[in-house]
Amino acid sequence: MTGVSTFRELQSEATEWRRYLHENPELDYRLENTANFVAEKLASFGINHIETGIADTGIVALIHGEGGEGPTIGLRADMDALPILEASGKAWSSKNQGIMHACGHDGHTAMLLGAAKYLASHRDFRGAVALIFQPAEEVELPSGALRMVQEGIMDRFGISQVYGMHIQPGIDIGKFGICPGAIMGSQDDFDIIIKGKGGHAAHPHHTVDPVTIAAHVILGLQAVVSRKTDPLDSLVISVTKLKAAQAYNIIPDHVEIAGTVRTLGASLQAFAEREIPMVAKGIASAFGAEIEFKYLRSVPATYNYAEQTKLAVAAAQSLVGPAAVDDAVKVSMGAEDFSYMLEARPGAFILVGNGPTAECHNPAFDFDDQALPYGMGYWVKLVETILGR
Ligand SMILES: [Zn+2]
Ligand SMILES: [Zn+2]
Repeated sequence: MTGVSTFRELQSEATEWRRYLHENPELDYRLENTANFVAEKLASFGINHIETGIADTGIVALIHGEGGEGPTIGLRADMDALPILEASGKAWSSKNQGIMHACGHDGHTAMLLGAAKYLASHRDFRGAVALIFQPAEEVELPSGALRMVQEGIMDRFGISQVYGMHIQPGIDIGKFGICPGAIMGSQDDFDIIIKGKGGHAAHPHHTVDPVTIAAHVILGLQAVVSRKTDPLDSLVISVTKLKAAQAYNIIPDHVEIAGTVRTLGASLQAFAEREIPMVAKGIASAFGAEIEFKYLRSVPATYNYAEQTKLAVAAAQSLVGPAAVDDAVKVSMGAEDFSYMLEARPGAFILVGNGPTAECHNPAFDFDDQALPYGMGYWVKLVETILGR
């Protein structure tokens, strides 16, 4: 049986990969260097079924077990970085100015590569493992997971279950968190344009001031959550953009408001899509203005299947013991586009501890290389749990 010590042997090599990826971050679908690096490594492990160029720079590689017939399970890592100027101060900081791995996807990629190296030389399992290296997790629609699903990877590679993992600051190194049902929120975005009547700032009574109306609308939207939503339900409405004129003495003719909606399920998405324009329109019309409204359904909630969650818990427990696996972890309202793969196939998404580091998407964030053996070990344990003979 394999334990964490097995994966410590791979740690120094995986650390080199991880730091190379961290120094050379790339954005969205433009992951040419990253994808080449991954494909070369996979080939060097003796994996010969590698398909590149899926959703531009995505990769799926198959490792066939030598233990007989069985299903194919998908293991997914995302590879893209963020448009953030790095401030981690690390020796391996980004060489690409204004781009950094601030969400740990460098670590995710290195962990799946480490598991690939191990599995390619330990094929004593049934069926096959599909290694899914995905671009563009961090982008607006269509994101990388959706495009890989649309390009048919589940059918083409015969994937019957699919699993994902994300590093989590605040969970100790060597610990895991997971729960059945929703584990990450949905993400929808909205735009509101308040159309008033501009004029001189000294004569507000000759205008329909969209700035004042915007202030009322923003507060009104907060009341949708506090006064119109069941307190036991989870809904976040955040206004994140506000754009008006640029002068001291002009009341503009319109103001643009934009924001994001996070929920844990489709019924609350529909509720928000209905309520936000109703409140904005009602308030605007009370002051004599009109609105334009757009609602963009983006990423659905990440929903863990009960049976596959049990398998993921069993795999993590066999690596680190039951006490180090929280199987009722608190749900995050952050969104994760792995949800599209879980819409296509049953599976589960697990959080792996990154220790007390800065939050993801913070310029000071860095993946902790001490987490590498646990991520690599979890993938291998999952294969042994589901496809073991
Ligand atoms: Zn992120
Ligand atoms: Zn991420």
